[in-house]
Amino acid sequence: MGTAVIRQVRASVVRGGGADYHDQSEGHWIDDNISTPMSKYPAYRKSRQSFGINVLGTVVVEIETDGGHYGFAVTTGGEPAAFIIERHLARFLEGRKVTDIELMWDQMYNATLYYGRRGIVLNAISGVDLALWDLLGQVRQEPVHAMIGGAVRDEIRFYATGARPDLAKQMGFIGGKMAVRHGPAQGAEGVHAELQRLGEMRNAVGDDFWLMFDCWMSLDVNYATKLANAAHEFGLKWIEEALPPDDYWGYAELKRDVPRGMMVTTGEHEATRWGFRLLMEMDCCDLIQPDVGWCGGLTELLKISSLADAHGKLVVPHGSSVYSYHFVCTRQNSPFAEFLMMAPAADKVVPMFTPMLEGEPVPVDGRLKISALDKPGFGVKLSQDITLERPYTH
Ligand SMILES: [Mg+2]
Repeated sequence: MGTAVIRQVRASVVRGGGADYHDQSEGHWIDDNISTPMSKYPAYRKSRQSFGINVLGTVVVEIETDGGHYGFAVTTGGEPAAFIIERHLARFLEGRKVTDIELMWDQMYNATLYYGRRGIVLNAISGVDLALWDLLGQVRQEPVHAMIGGAVRDEIRFYATGARPDLAKQMGFIGGKMAVRHGPAQGAEGVHAELQRLGEMRNAVGDDFWLMFDCWMSLDVNYATKLANAAHEFGLKWIEEALPPDDYWGYAELKRDVPRGMMVTTGEHEATRWGFRLLMEMDCCDLIQPDVGWCGGLTELLKISSLADAHGKLVVPHGSSVYSYHFVCTRQNSPFAEFLMMAPAADKVVPMFTPMLEGEPVPVDGRLKISALDKPGFGVKLSQDITLERPYTH
């Protein structure tokens, strides 16, 4: 096992859903009137695809060893990420032992520092890192969760992100998170409209079901503070990603000014231990939401979560299906997981990375038994029905 050596790294692109879950057909809740940083421009208000949210597509990273072992992972980043992986990152893997994950991460990160640090470069590094963990699991015939410390509970509980928390409750989820539809450009009317929808949902789900707002970086401190305080009477559990990710100072101010008991959450578009260090040292939030496909991969998420643990912050990764589940079940400060409702009307559970993965587990009654994850690596296969396009080689 210790001698398994990486022979080849390949990066391919896939369109239509998958890891680029924003790449959906018309009429999907995920593209319908969601407040964004572009909403101040009326022409880009109705649809996120109108400003290009789905422009990247999915990148698939495949790694093979001399001995015929194979690991893969998917994330967002499409063709630009494929270029970075093939032409720059592959050199740090090929010829290396499959166990050299820490060394390969450090070389990928440092070699790209002059143009990287976050964004697409970190998506690319994350995809490679996840494929490395999958590969190591195939070589060892062990699930990833067993290789990073083992599960600390028997099952994972989920909240649902989608347009219908009322239906999520009926499906057994512990909470429902809705995207806000208005922002500072709509002023007081915007706050009023959000409260009306929140109140209707509260009536539908009763007192104890969690309700949260996801603001996708679209508010400002003043508007977010007003919204959070007004939403307190409807028991809003948290306000998520209220501000642009670079506004650490705004987050610190918001966290000071939300009602006691309401959480401020963020980090979906943050990357690396250094980005999250800022969020924690400036006390920007109560709960961080790294995306394991964007923040630097599992290798980096383990460091981020240790830092969060020491700061008394919860870690509940953004979406990312099996790549998150294998982490969540191993950490006490990651007590539940997010499930993105990918059905267009958010009215049924479908696999999050539809149609890319075979064997992708989904919550049943809002729960997933850890035994469902007891397969080598991340426990999924690339679907035979998708077409991989490899735009670059090396
Ligand atoms: Mg979010």
